[in-house]
Amino acid sequence: MQLQTQALHAGYDKDTQRTMAVPIYQTTAYEFRDVEHAANLFALKELGNIYTRLNNPTTDVFEKRFATLEGGTAGLATASGMAAIFYAIANAAEAGDNIICARQLYGGTLTQASYTLKRFGIEARYFDVQNPDEINALVDDKTKVIFFESLTNPSVDVADIKAITTIAKKHGILTIVDNTVATPILCRPLEHGVDVVVHSASKYTTGQGLAIGGILVERHDLVDLLRGNQRYPQFNEADESYHGLVYVDVPLPLFCLRARLSLLRDLGAVVSPFNSWLFIQGIETLSLRMREHSRNALAVAEFLETHPKVKKVNYPGLKSNSNYANAQRYFENGMSSGLLSFEVESFEEAKKIVDATNLFSLVVNIGDSKSIITHPASTTHQQLSNEELIACGVPSGLIRLSIGLEASSDLIDDLTQALNG
Ligand code: PLP
Repeated sequence: MQLQTQALHAGYDKDTQRTMAVPIYQTTAYEFRDVEHAANLFALKELGNIYTRLNNPTTDVFEKRFATLEGGTAGLATASGMAAIFYAIANAAEAGDNIICARQLYGGTLTQASYTLKRFGIEARYFDVQNPDEINALVDDKTKVIFFESLTNPSVDVADIKAITTIAKKHGILTIVDNTVATPILCRPLEHGVDVVVHSASKYTTGQGLAIGGILVERHDLVDLLRGNQRYPQFNEADESYHGLVYVDVPLPLFCLRARLSLLRDLGAVVSPFNSWLFIQGIETLSLRMREHSRNALAVAEFLETHPKVKKVNYPGLKSNSNYANAQRYFENGMSSGLLSFEVESFEEAKKIVDATNLFSLVVNIGDSKSIITHPASTTHQQLSNEELIACGVPSGLIRLSIGLEASSDLIDDLTQALNG
């Protein structure tokens, strides 16, 4: 079945009321039939709802629908994209371990990896997403994760997914990809050997800037990588916090199961049922929107390339862009999403242009149907040093655009007056 069909139907078997819209189950808890029923649910002898921190029927539809779009076997929704990233990494690594991350990452992910995970005893090592071979020299027997973005925010690079997963497989290491900017409509990393996909649902999934949320999706047969793999004792040995459960022995998608039973249960960054419902609404139009975002962004990128004040345009849909070949290889018909960036002479010049736009909103978000402009060096990436900024592809004169669904001619008119002003 085509993705645009699955986006409307997957994961929802109309309930007893035959509702066309997925109902919102706005509840904290669920009544057990009797004590035996409750005991069976806790022992995983029977699957069912216990408490909304662990599961919820509306969220269940969101998880199943999104996992279907990614071509995965199960999903786990979280309160934010940052929580999804943390849970995915913390499910694989613990104090004393290390993870290998692309340098070109969303600023929040970089600070989570470099500072917060460090406080939990997990070391982040970095490779250049344009040079996956660097990974080999960083791997040791404590390496638990290789993490990268399929389409990087804000440097707008396209990862050579196959090259990275080939290296990861050689070492038996789990790969986690943030597929937020590409979305499963444009790119399906699991088909290229990735093990776990994470998302901020706060971007294109909600689509209109309505809700914060995240999700992680696990590939089919992930147990093949984890069973007997000495890097991952937590999946092979008894989990004392869950009456001795051995995850590789459970006939369920084990990565999401462990993240749910330990991390979601104990840390509790759960998505609200209402937000899951908003994400379901967003998914219904995701394929239409991603095509239009991509078409509009290409038109704006082509315009910017011709402007004398613009030093460089980063958009993988441009033939002149160094990521063009990867975009053609990994993205549906080469469509490259709505994110692009361009560089002007200086920090001051960039600030002037951002302030002069009218149609673009100055917002630290992406993936809204309304166009957004950001100056990463003074906002999302403010915490990074100059060296870190250059290393992750965010020079101080860089302006990021998230191209929305307005007419591209109106967006180009607005940018023209801002650049010429
Ligand atoms: N990943 C990417 C690529 C992002 O752009 C963002 C937020 O901008 C996140 C993750 C974090 O998501 P959230 O804001 O939902 O926590």
